[in-house]
Amino acid sequence: MILGYRCRQCDAVYLKKSLLCRRCSARDNFEQAQLSGRGKIYSFSTVHAAPARFEKEAPYVLAIIELEEGPRLSGRLSQGEPAIEAEVELQKIENGIHFFKRV
Ligand SMILES: [Zn+2]
Repeated sequence: MILGYRCRQCDAVYLKKSLLCRRCSARDNFEQAQLSGRGKIYSFSTVHAAPARFEKEAPYVLAIIELEEGPRLSGRLSQGEPAIEAEVELQKIENGIHFFKRV
């Protein structure tokens, strides 16, 4: 489950809490929101040479996912072929990594 913060004034959604809404400039007017976990692939790349702690998992697909609520976050595509604009949903969060699968 992905938690975000929704501006009470304009409904903009952010992944990190901040003091000021970047869309409407409302100050300190956010509520926590549960995001759907659904979105689209904004960009991706296949990682062959992974950092040491992920070495055994390479190659894997690292993607920027644009969530349907608006914010983008990076995660891995764990199932299906990557493609720009392809629809994905959150499969699991493990060790702080978001895993998505194509729908
Ligand atoms: Zn706002």
